Amino acid sequence: MNKIITILTILLVASSFAFAAGESEGANARKYVTIGTGGVTGVYYPVGGAISRILNQQSDAYNVKATVESTGGSVFNINTVLNGGLEFGIAQSDRQYQAINGMAEWEEAGSQEGLRSVFSLHAESVTLVASSASGINGISDLAGKRVNLGNVGSGQLQNARDLLEVFSITESDLQPEFVRAADAPSLLQDGRIDAFFYTVGHPSGTITEATTGRVPVSIVSIAGSEVSGLIAEKPYYSTSTIPASYYPNAENTADANTIGVLATLITRESLDDDIVYALTKEVMENLDDFRALHPALALLTPESMLGGLSAPLHAGALRYYDEIGLEVPAALR
Ligand code: GLU
Repeated sequence: MNKIITILTILLVASSFAFAAGESEGANARKYVTIGTGGVTGVYYPVGGAISRILNQQSDAYNVKATVESTGGSVFNINTVLNGGLEFGIAQSDRQYQAINGMAEWEEAGSQEGLRSVFSLHAESVTLVASSASGINGISDLAGKRVNLGNVGSGQLQNARDLLEVFSITESDLQPEFVRAADAPSLLQDGRIDAFFYTVGHPSGTITEATTGRVPVSIVSIAGSEVSGLIAEKPYYSTSTIPASYYPNAENTADANTIGVLATLITRESLDDDIVYALTKEVMENLDDFRALHPALALLTPESMLGGLSAPLHAGALRYYDEIGLEVPAALR
């Protein structure tokens, strides 16, 4: 009997020891985080890649590994981060504003209170690309044309709608398409659309692709009193310029004037503070390397990276900013 009890005790101790080891291994297990971006020929995708590369240099120190996913864009990223399908996402500053204030796609659902910002990234311009044969020289020429406004889930769809509205053009005045920006250059080159909208940083592979085919193509300026009115009305729009030098094969030789927003990195309130802290710290402390990873990032500074945010900062990001004494706008705390 005693022998049996001894054996049972040994088994019990051994199994609880194994359990404890398993537990502690679980706590230290590497955590995988995914960053939602956009089309592979956009700028979110390489910028997401740059963030994950910087963080992954310290994977062992933090026990975190980041990967990047190509997605339908800002609105998809915000919704998927909130429902737990992604840990981080890149989203336009106007879409972040709308999500936190329960506007646009979130009008019915109301304020997305779990949304958190981490930092802002590069400037994005609302870019209108048109075939020269279409005769489109501005927004007012879009009536009657076949125009890709953007896929559901993208950032640009609402930018296109805002612009049409201030020029009093309704969607029934044109033949709207709702495909991903990555598919628009070939549709334009095949003559199946006359123009497309894409809110994107520059230079972007999508715009290079659109302007280097057989069909001559221009980047069209978006200007006029309607546009100044829109900038005055919406807090997130500002003037923006697309340098002609980025797209030497486009027909326009002058820079295109338009409106722009900022790209921002978002997450959700429930994500582990230590993970958000690690990502924020690594990007900020390796800013020179980060800026060198894409031309659109070249001008970033820690101060500029706190601009254009409307969702409160995630506690992990805030911990880092407070640690280095960065001035954080009160509304973001
Ligand atoms: N601004 C676009 C969007 O939110 C994505 C641009 C990009 O992928 O660089 O859908």
